[in-house]
Amino acid sequence: MTRKRHDTATLWVLGGKIVAPSSKRKAVSVLLPFHPRHPCENELGSCAIDAQNAGAKAQFRKGTPIPCLPNARATVSDMHTVRNFVGGEWQAPTPSNWYDLTNPATGESLGRVPMSGTTEVSEAVRAAREAFPKWRETPVVQRARYLFKFKALLEEHFDEIARIVTQENGKTVDEARGSLRRGIENVEHACGMPSLMMGDSLEDIATGIDCEYFRQPMGVFAAITPFNFPAMVPLWFYPYAIASGNTFVLKPSEQVPLSQVRIVELLQQTGLPQGVMNVVHGGKDAVDALLRHPDVVGISFVGSSPVARYIYKTAAEHGKRVQALGGAKNHMIVMPDADMDRAVGIVSESVFGCAGQRCLAGSVIVATGKSYEPFRDKLIASAKGLRLGNGLDAGVSMGPVVSHKHREKVLSYIESGISDGAKLALDGRGAKVPQYPKGAFLGATVFDQVDPTMKIGREEIFGPVATVSHAATLDEAIKRVQGSEFANAVSIFTTSGRAAREFRYRVGVSMIGVNIGVAAPMAFFPFGGTKGSFFGDLKAHGKDSVEFYTDKKVVISRW
Ligand code: NAD
Repeated sequence: MTRKRHDTATLWVLGGKIVAPSSKRKAVSVLLPFHPRHPCENELGSCAIDAQNAGAKAQFRKGTPIPCLPNARATVSDMHTVRNFVGGEWQAPTPSNWYDLTNPATGESLGRVPMSGTTEVSEAVRAAREAFPKWRETPVVQRARYLFKFKALLEEHFDEIARIVTQENGKTVDEARGSLRRGIENVEHACGMPSLMMGDSLEDIATGIDCEYFRQPMGVFAAITPFNFPAMVPLWFYPYAIASGNTFVLKPSEQVPLSQVRIVELLQQTGLPQGVMNVVHGGKDAVDALLRHPDVVGISFVGSSPVARYIYKTAAEHGKRVQALGGAKNHMIVMPDADMDRAVGIVSESVFGCAGQRCLAGSVIVATGKSYEPFRDKLIASAKGLRLGNGLDAGVSMGPVVSHKHREKVLSYIESGISDGAKLALDGRGAKVPQYPKGAFLGATVFDQVDPTMKIGREEIFGPVATVSHAATLDEAIKRVQGSEFANAVSIFTTSGRAAREFRYRVGVSMIGVNIGVAAPMAFFPFGGTKGSFFGDLKAHGKDSVEFYTDKKVVISRW
């Protein structure tokens, strides 16, 4: 964890105008907060705290209008500090540790996030537990109405949230928009909870005896989410949990908490009763407190496989339902009869989109038969055409990776590929973006002649690195996929229905693309893998979600 001194310049506001920056300075330059908690939400144009410019530097001079703060003494560090949301209140955190947030494209500070522990988690779980009885009794149609309002607010603030995602994560704003759209689709789907959570019944299971079952919510659920889809992944969970009558605690990734803070502010604006939704920020300490808390009935997790395995084991030991989605090593099989130009574009987008930081990203390209050389050459040409830069700038096709620390990790994989004897056909290590010298940029990288036993052929790299290898036949390619410890997603590129059918039937991976590079199930289908990519039974969203968040109570009656 990095620690930095934060600027604590004080702004004095009287009658909605800054009357004095601290230290008798005429002006202070500060980063605008990401989540201005102010009542002038609809008059942002007249307020210096402008959500559209969140994350940008602004000069606060005497006379600057801040109508949202009629009379206040605000310190800059307060405005940068991410807060926990507990029992309907954004709480001023007092942890001993903070995590510094940095825009991975510009290197600028975005604020700091509290690394909460047992105390904060206990407060959030208590708030959720206390809210549960009344929320459970709230008719499901009324619960769904909060989500209809939530959906409308998410649409209204769509671009603002997408920009925050880009600033905290690095992906391009188009990628951020696409992922937010996928997240909102879960809210839309959860709005159908009155139908989704219906039970079932059968008369005369024996003479004069009837049987029925009701789906009931269970209590407090929690989700722990990763850095790569800050807005979308949490939306895979809490809309369903809440609509089905449970209450919730979210622990977002400490690396990218800001978009979720904004989204939960919008959820709060729907008038959702206090305590139904809670957010606790932090890392392992907060996670462990959730995993062991006796009042948490179930845990949803998305992240790397080692942590997913730990979450599954620990939460299960503590008697909870668990769904733990882990990492991936997704194969892209290219058949000689594929439409090559189309396949290259799709595979390139799959591998390099979101700078390779997607659990559905293509990683291992297995070109079969005669497709090998032409496909490899076209992929390298396509990768060379990508424009690296700040995801907020026009024309940029690939942003930075999430942090310098993560960049170092990806670099170490590239080094291992070289030392294991793979051929570095395109080297992105030296790529620079002159306007953003502090950015965590890494250019598209392609390895050729990769053997499946090499580390880069086996492990998840989670960066813009493609590994290309050859297989003589479809059968050999399928066996290669089956030999992986992961089984999240896989794709085949072919014009043969017969080859596609055989592939789908035998391959054994959970999310399969046929001429699709990122086989992402939509909200009404289940999302998740098998083997080392998933620990649990019920997957994310779709009907599995309703199963996960409800218990079936069976009633057998004779009158
Ligand atoms: P990560 O496992 O490092 O962190 C995920 C979450 O777990 C974070 O909230 C983090 O605070 C917490 N955490 C980290 N270490 C922990 C520990 N030791 N104990 C308890 N909690 C801990 O994952 P990440 O780097 O944020 O995300 C990238 C990973 O997520 C990749 O492996 C990617 O494939 C995976 N992912 C999978 C899916 C999927 O659907 N299967 C989707 C998105 C991302």
